[in-house]
Amino acid sequence: MSNLTKKLNEEEAKEYIKNNFPRREAKEEITTTNLAEFGYREIKEAKDLLTAYVENGLPDDFNNEEITIMFNKHSGNVFLTNSEYQVAFASEGKLYSFYSCSECGHEGSEEEGFNNEDKSLCDECYEKENS
Ligand SMILES: [Zn+2]
Repeated sequence: MSNLTKKLNEEEAKEYIKNNFPRREAKEEITTTNLAEFGYREIKEAKDLLTAYVENGLPDDFNNEEITIMFNKHSGNVFLTNSEYQVAFASEGKLYSFYSCSECGHEGSEEEGFNNEDKSLCDECYEKENS
């Protein structure tokens, strides 16, 4: 288990979500964990997430507390999330962590600009902060 992800307390996590995922706070629920609200495509993606989970495990930096399958009805994305609001997607049978930069809002996987030690910042912001 790596310690790359900064642990947030509950207040910090709520603030982080509000800043980075404003829609998740909206009154009309944009995200759901209720499988009855998933369509066929989303159920299939949920299956892919669970298959990847069973066969290859969680990403190293993904905390295994309160894991749920979540569907974002606006983006159409289906992903795993947890008590720390970390996000993991499945690709080619494996789960990978999906990050959001707390500085500029950039989102992506490790290859998509989060190849630094502090996954709460994208590579660009990380370099700015550490130069
Ligand atoms: Zn950034």
